[in-house]
Amino acid sequence: MAIRRSATKRHGLPTIVQLRLTVAPDQAEALAAAVLLCNQAATVVSRLAWQHRVFAVVELHRLSYYEVRSQLAGLGAQAAVRAIARVAGAYANRRATKKHAHIFRPHGAIPYDARLMSFNRDARTVSLWTPTGRVTIPYTGRPDDLKAIDTLPMGEADLVCRRGVWLLQVALSLPKPVVGEPVGGFVGVDQGVANLAVTSDGAVLPGPALPGPVGGNGHVRTLRERRHRQRRRLQKKGTSAARRVLRRLSGRERRMMTDLNHQISKFVVREAERTGRGVALEDLQGIRGWVRAHRFQRRTLHGWAFAQQIAFTRYKAARAGVAFLLVDPAYTSQACPECGHVSRANRPARGRFVCQRCGLAGHADHIAARNIAARGVAGWAVINQPHATGLPSARRDRESKPPASAGGS
Ligand SMILES: [Zn+2]
Repeated sequence: MAIRRSATKRHGLPTIVQLRLTVAPDQAEALAAAVLLCNQAATVVSRLAWQHRVFAVVELHRLSYYEVRSQLAGLGAQAAVRAIARVAGAYANRRATKKHAHIFRPHGAIPYDARLMSFNRDARTVSLWTPTGRVTIPYTGRPDDLKAIDTLPMGEADLVCRRGVWLLQVALSLPKPVVGEPVGGFVGVDQGVANLAVTSDGAVLPGPALPGPVGGNGHVRTLRERRHRQRRRLQKKGTSAARRVLRRLSGRERRMMTDLNHQISKFVVREAERTGRGVALEDLQGIRGWVRAHRFQRRTLHGWAFAQQIAFTRYKAARAGVAFLLVDPAYTSQACPECGHVSRANRPARGRFVCQRCGLAGHADHIAARNIAARGVAGWAVINQPHATGLPSARRDRESKPPASAGGS
């Protein structure tokens, strides 16, 4: 969302922390009114923008500010400004195509900026604008998140009500650490369906390597199988009650996957940091062709889970100053990391790798992870080659040294 974009541009690493608001009944009413009104305002502005083909924020402000305020009583000046900026952002960000006027969902999250909210960090309360005046609400959150709120510069926040719980998702800027040179090479991570991740060190994740609420791999697999069967059954039923259960189920499964992805990415980045290596994963964007798509989206259609693992790993690596690379996924599962022989015949059975030339044999995902690690090393060398030809180095010397010594021949 917009908050991520702006945070990236101006400061270091953006991060989002989620606060739970302890809302009194009358405050809940005021917040609900704010959500409805702000989304309504955004839709009004969006329709104007689309009708007049005006999408840039300054022009849009001129066009719609008085109009939206006169249409919607209770919308303050700052909330109107925010709505206009939000619409301009939505059209600029391609979240809204310009083919239709973008309609904002009436109960969707609404953005708060510094003029619409203020934090009292000592009291752990936040004051939020509503159409009926400001409300001051206590907040709670995970200890780490609260500490982050106490210490880091804040950007915008999104207010959203999820199943009756009011949440404030606040963008924070972390200082950007320097990425260390991966002197020990790369940890390659192969993502899969049966095993969410297998590293080039041979760690199978989730598995015994991961502490925490989720135990061995077998447990996860049976849980996912059961979920899958349950979902199929409910999909067949197709009643509205079944659909409701299905929604809740997918939410629960999504949360479980998110938790696993956090654990896996944390483990991988910690291993890389500990051993002076970088982390390499396959670039899912680069996956072409039916076979790869099939491999990554098979059955669970959990493409998002792979993308999420990449996002988490990238973020945690950046935070730890660990080098991170996405590599070309072509033939990572068919190539031999020892002799380089690439053949479909190197995969005699599911999950097995046996090189037809040199005889190297092993767990197919582990072999793939080794290929990914090697591509990480190669990719890093290419990116960081300082003087591919004599020219760039010469130019750099001229820039950094005074003219007299640069011409010193
Ligand atoms: Zn080989």
